Amino acid sequence: MQSCYAIAAPHSLHERTGEGGIRTLGSLLDYGALAKRCFQPLSHLTKNWPEYREELLIANLSIISWRRQSCLRIFQKGVTVEQAGLPASHGLKQLAMISEEEALGRILEKVAPLRERTLPLLRALGCFSARDVAARLSLPNFDNSAMDGYAVVASDCRCGAHMHVVGEQPAGPDRHLCISHGEAVRIFTGAPIPSGADAVVMQEDVARDGNEIVINVDVAPGEFVRRRGCDLAEGQIILAKGEPIHAAAIALLASQGFADVTVGGEVSTAIISTGDELVKPGEKLEAGQIYESNSALLDALLQRCGAIVKSVEHSGDERGPLVEAIQRGIENDILIINGGVSVGEHDLVKAALRDLGGQIDIWRVAIKPGKPFLFGNIGGCLVFGLPGNPVSAFVTFLQFVRSAILKLMGAANLDLPKVPAKLTVDLTNDGGRAHYIRGKLEHGKFTPVGRQESHALFGLSQSNALLRLAAGESLTADRIVDVQVWD
Ligand code: AMP
Ligand code: MG
Repeated sequence: MQSCYAIAAPHSLHERTGEGGIRTLGSLLDYGALAKRCFQPLSHLTKNWPEYREELLIANLSIISWRRQSCLRIFQKGVTVEQAGLPASHGLKQLAMISEEEALGRILEKVAPLRERTLPLLRALGCFSARDVAARLSLPNFDNSAMDGYAVVASDCRCGAHMHVVGEQPAGPDRHLCISHGEAVRIFTGAPIPSGADAVVMQEDVARDGNEIVINVDVAPGEFVRRRGCDLAEGQIILAKGEPIHAAAIALLASQGFADVTVGGEVSTAIISTGDELVKPGEKLEAGQIYESNSALLDALLQRCGAIVKSVEHSGDERGPLVEAIQRGIENDILIINGGVSVGEHDLVKAALRDLGGQIDIWRVAIKPGKPFLFGNIGGCLVFGLPGNPVSAFVTFLQFVRSAILKLMGAANLDLPKVPAKLTVDLTNDGGRAHYIRGKLEHGKFTPVGRQESHALFGLSQSNALLRLAAGESLTADRIVDVQVWD
């Protein structure tokens, strides 16, 4: 820890500063004047005033903070606002805990879709269309048979009617056959309908003898004929800008003769896990150590979004190596740093980002689990600091990182899919943060599973959906709620 000190300013001083605290703070934090009255080492304050612990530790980063109109002012010894390197716009309010909505809004403001690219169809799976694509052809593109059978004039065909077979039309080049009353053409599925014919009778309903057939059913006009354009009209939009390209969309594009498609950019990402206690799976575990599992979680989630994971690194809780790992990670569009974003002395991510001239826009969001979530950037790389507890990492990834990735990729819909479900139990959120409950969505019902704590990975692994319980909200069993489906 650096030599940090904090000052608890008398309440009257707070009132004089008002909301524009940071500007006035320069004079308020006249170190000499205040230090004489209430000057204590940081560690002392954190011990005695646990409710201010987080704010106090921000001082470690040379940031001055306040909370809930509190009378607390903190600063690093001798550091002015200007020396702290804060731009004028970088007020204290920006580092206060904010709501999820505000956090997501601020993140997405910073995200601009990447440059589009044109890919062969099959490489576009999981991408998002960068353009509105219009149909070049009607579907079907010509009237054709839905069955193997005989093309006929429907009005001739009463049960027991006789027809003369005048030709054969397989699927393939149009033989331009033509029939009139009393005639039929042997036809196969997908083959063009001969002119003059207006129906197809299935071969199962026909008895054939040489070139004569007897029809065993009544036939209605249009029967077993697939009309030109009945599925899709030429010029109709078949893929809108921002829509996902899934298997059926690829098939549709192929059916229109497109060999490639223009899609949003490819998002490159890096993951850094932090923590001295972490050991790579496969290696020997000593007492006090745990296996590093979050980079596997994040890697899988990133792949699921369609992002490319370029590197996965681990750094111990040491500032130098962490800074070096971050320097490598910021070669990408997105860097996720996992762990080390909380308020303990070993949480070095904020300090490391500042060492590299990074901008921190968000730190702490009113979300449970996941409160210490951090967002900022270093140059063009968006940096997400996710808390180390696995469920916190999972929830903050899905609520914030996923949306940013999708926007970079050019997606129109940035939200997780939501479905209505009947809640099977009563739920109450007494806390002041929105709580994401992990649960199982099955047969239209949502049931919380496992321990609802941020470290409880097993419960998470048994879930497939999240229910957001707003701060102070109570829900009774049998209520219909919207749940986010993540699997
Ligand atoms: P931190 O956010 O670094 O304070 O970590 C919070 C908790 O998450 C601690 O119990 C860590 O051991 C655990 N943790 C941090 N990173 C990981 C990781 N990569 N894999 C599994 N657990 C982790
Ligand atoms: Mg840690």
